[in-house]
Amino acid sequence: MAETFVTEITPQSTDYSRWYLDVVRKAELADYSPVKGCMVIRPYGYAIWEHIQRGLDDRIKATGHVNAYFPLFIPESLLMREAKHVEGFAPQVAWVTKGGDEELEEKLIVRPTSETIFGVMYQKWIQSWRDLPLLINQWANVVRWEKVTRPFLRTTEFLWQEGHTAHETADEAQEETLKILNLYAEFCETVLAMPVVKGQKSDSEKFAGASNTYSIEALMGDGRALQAGTSHNLGQNFAKAFEIQFQGRDKTLQYVWTTSWGVTTRLVGGLIMTHGDDSGLVLPPSVAPWQVVIVPIPRGNWKETVLPACETIRGQLQAAGIRVKLDADESQTPGWKYAEYEMRGVPLRLEIGPKDIEKNSVFAARRDTRQKQSLPMEGLADRIKELLAEIQASLLSKALAFREEHTSRVSSYDEFKRAMEGRPGFVVAPWCESATCEAEIKAETQATIRNIPFVAAPASGKTCIRCGKPATAHAWFAKAY
Ligand SMILES: [Zn+2]
Repeated sequence: MAETFVTEITPQSTDYSRWYLDVVRKAELADYSPVKGCMVIRPYGYAIWEHIQRGLDDRIKATGHVNAYFPLFIPESLLMREAKHVEGFAPQVAWVTKGGDEELEEKLIVRPTSETIFGVMYQKWIQSWRDLPLLINQWANVVRWEKVTRPFLRTTEFLWQEGHTAHETADEAQEETLKILNLYAEFCETVLAMPVVKGQKSDSEKFAGASNTYSIEALMGDGRALQAGTSHNLGQNFAKAFEIQFQGRDKTLQYVWTTSWGVTTRLVGGLIMTHGDDSGLVLPPSVAPWQVVIVPIPRGNWKETVLPACETIRGQLQAAGIRVKLDADESQTPGWKYAEYEMRGVPLRLEIGPKDIEKNSVFAARRDTRQKQSLPMEGLADRIKELLAEIQASLLSKALAFREEHTSRVSSYDEFKRAMEGRPGFVVAPWCESATCEAEIKAETQATIRNIPFVAAPASGKTCIRCGKPATAHAWFAKAY
């Protein structure tokens, strides 16, 4: 039991960034590819993404949206239609200039996001108020040319879902924008056990072409924030650029109101850094490719006694809907397997040997708390389901407690700068909402405004930490990924 194995994972306290890369590589989540800035998502990492997709897709459909698929390429002229959008995305665009041997008459871009091509199609499909709302989502890959990349957190090509909706009124578009923000937050907390702060982005951080951007922000184990999802109210900006008009109930011709929103494979990076420890990954049962691993103890005539019992248990757990792996590989010792599945973050390990069979019980070890206990075979599947639910809940409370411990509230710039040293977490501070103060704070401390939460305390009577003028908001600052 006390055996330790060299896992080649750098401790978090030595170098968090190296710890992250070690976990990604050792747990076989992703690998570097011959294409600069593009990763290969390996089967174990992709299985996690599939569980994320399933959970989100169910929620997106349950709120009335449908899936479709739009082209990977977007003609140059479409990108150019919305001025702010071009300005924001042009520096990151990958171009296609040739098809086979022939120069293209019009260059194509590889989509960095799809507002423009949705816009063109919505212009064709929407004529009357009866066609609204139009609520379409797509699961796709996008490309944004990045200079510095890190697996899952920032890659040139990444996977995501992008929702694009069109509405009859401004109020409906705003309602949709916030409905999705809440859906994302609920998903992150329930499924990923990753608490998030919901709020509005500052003007300088909003999406290129949006009227308002809202985000969910999570706190990683090193005290840096991660933007985990965004939802944009695009107002009539894209409707005007793409002439998306409809005949209203009063017979007048009006522009629609649109929204867009997305989360990406970045969520996998968020999971790693929310729950991981020096032994590797810690996965919430909801997204773990294997929720339970069974390790038989090979003693005596184990193949006649222990192994059949393990197979029976595997069958019972599978029948109960639990994702389970039985590792009967004889070339590795149980101790090696314990370390391996801990590193891969499997929530619960069952050890079964001849003595357990005699006692009609199994030995269970939790990955999150490392607590060990003997469980009777009788009613095992039900007990394991309860344990998995306990693990899921306990990961969320632990992450919430960590965020509380790493959120400080300050009222002066000196306090702010002190709080931002080392591993800061969130620092909540009164702000005058001027872009100048925001830019100066960023230049001087590397901290950015993550968002302005809806539930923040009123800032009346407080002064901006940077300029000393009356504050109008409490902003949540952090150093961010
Ligand atoms: Zn100020």
